[in-house]
Amino acid sequence: MANLTPPASLLHGIVESSEDAIIGENLDGLITLWNPAAERLFGYTPAEAVGQAAQLIVPEHIRATAVQTRARALRGETVEHEETIRSSKEGKLIEVSLTLSRIRDANGQLLGLSQILRDIGDRRKTERAAAHLSAVIQSSDDAIASKDLDGIVQSWNPAAERLFGFTAAEIVGQSIRKIIPANRWPEEDEVLGRIRKGERIEHFETIRQRKDGTLIPISLTVSPIRAADGEIVGALKIARDMSTRAVLERDKSRLGAIVDSSDDAIISKDLNGTIQTWNRGAERMFGYRAEEAVGRSITLIIPEDRLHEEDEVLSRIKRGLRVDHFETIRRSKDGTLIPISLTVSPIRDHTGTIIGASKTVRDLSALRAYATTLEQTVRERTASLELANSQLESFAYSVSHDLRAPLRGMHGLADALLADYSEVLDERARDYARRIVHEARQLDGLIQDLLAYSRLARIDIELESVDVGDVVEAALHNLDADIRTSHATIAVDSALPRLRANRAVLIQVLTNLISNAVKFGGREPTVTVRALNVDGTARIWVEDRGIGIAPKHHERIFRAFERLHGVEQYPGTGIGLAIVHKAIERLGGRIGVESRVGEGSRFWFELPTAEAA
Ligand code: ADP
Repeated sequence: MANLTPPASLLHGIVESSEDAIIGENLDGLITLWNPAAERLFGYTPAEAVGQAAQLIVPEHIRATAVQTRARALRGETVEHEETIRSSKEGKLIEVSLTLSRIRDANGQLLGLSQILRDIGDRRKTERAAAHLSAVIQSSDDAIASKDLDGIVQSWNPAAERLFGFTAAEIVGQSIRKIIPANRWPEEDEVLGRIRKGERIEHFETIRQRKDGTLIPISLTVSPIRAADGEIVGALKIARDMSTRAVLERDKSRLGAIVDSSDDAIISKDLNGTIQTWNRGAERMFGYRAEEAVGRSITLIIPEDRLHEEDEVLSRIKRGLRVDHFETIRRSKDGTLIPISLTVSPIRDHTGTIIGASKTVRDLSALRAYATTLEQTVRERTASLELANSQLESFAYSVSHDLRAPLRGMHGLADALLADYSEVLDERARDYARRIVHEARQLDGLIQDLLAYSRLARIDIELESVDVGDVVEAALHNLDADIRTSHATIAVDSALPRLRANRAVLIQVLTNLISNAVKFGGREPTVTVRALNVDGTARIWVEDRGIGIAPKHHERIFRAFERLHGVEQYPGTGIGLAIVHKAIERLGGRIGVESRVGEGSRFWFELPTAEAA
């Protein structure tokens, strides 16, 4: 007999070139052979794998099973194409088909096992996708069928059985013309012609014939089926029943789905108030399941003290009227009272007669809770802001107070230096002393303004009847020196009103406004103070014809330290208008400015007249 044992080199060649991973292991379970396909599949090089336990590529959780499989193979049982998983060097799980065979030496002595592993991941994926697709087709509500290019039916889903009355067994292998009325056969020729050209036909409305001969309107979508190489081999048809009943039913189920998935409770009741339908939203909101609620009176969820509402709602419904967004309280199964917004509309039958009411109920508790938290937060924030504000103001007040004492000392000493030691000092020293006096005055002005500002914010302002004419006079008296040095002309309206305000505060306001009008009034300034009374409110203007203010600055000049010019050009602290603003605000009035650069400025404020109060 010829020796048919292949030469070792041939065997080696087969193993090396195999597409499948081939792994050899000895009786101790150690890897002795690892071919290139094994390296490709699992990522270990032969050098890394040989000598390791064959368990290397078995995922932890199936190691026990792997040990049993190995024992079976060693006993001589067939282990062929068993589907299992292995893991790669990177820990990726790989679906494989596994075949184990015993290896013996020339004397028949058992040496170990060979494993042949084939990667079936792709195949499994394709299989799974196909299974899914088939399940989709099987469960589809639309009739789905396929046919070859001769119009012979190849597949037929359950919906097609229902729609056309033929079972798959009756029609697969037969011509599709079995469901096409004879007078529409030319249609089929045309459809097939277009499919051959690779076209798709969408929502084509036509008539088909059921097994029992009845004709049904359908909407048809037909697309070409291509083989793997792209060749058109048939057509897929999807048919939808367009009979009125079917369309209505589809609408109904769509409506049902909408009602069911709504977050709002949607309930219908008849004219006696008996619950007819109860959606999931109602189950969630009120805790009763549909089976518990349907058939019972709607008063189930109405608290006793609100039962009268139901009569009112029903009487409106009977008159054909709706109830919109009515806010009330309902009670859930566990007794919780729920704030809700209710919309109720009449339900009519096909003759238009009102037969019941549908109510949509929206749970307002979350909204209410949110609003309450929001209010609470706002209240807390306001309180803490007010506290911080008042702390800051009293801080500013004490700082300013404490600054004034040493400042007065500096001022006094520099004055004394000039008065008593004038002869001993040279001109330079005298200049320094004069500058100290000047700076001290500046600083004192600033502190005074700051004090005035923070005092305004802190003190209680008593309202009294104040004569504006009198106030203007006092202000002019304060500004006497300035007015004289700048040769200003001040024109005051003869008929100034009495205001509901505070005299001292108002003097400060007018002093600041007139002082600015003089300061920024140009050469030989002209300042006018006018008033207008409208319905218990008086508006007072202080106008100048000076340098004016660009509108973009109108807002910011009322904030502290906002100045538009250098102190060398126009001395000042930048707090005057902030004081005026705060004062008018505290007196409950409004303030504003009308001005353009080069056209003078008109500052105004409004306060209630004394008569109005
Ligand atoms: P100041 O001490 O600088 O006068 P105010 O708070 O009184 O501070 O005014 C802020 C800024 O507003 C001034 O520096 C000036 O630039 C501008 N301003 C105020 N009044 C007038 C006015 N009548 N005409 C032009 N600019 C003015």
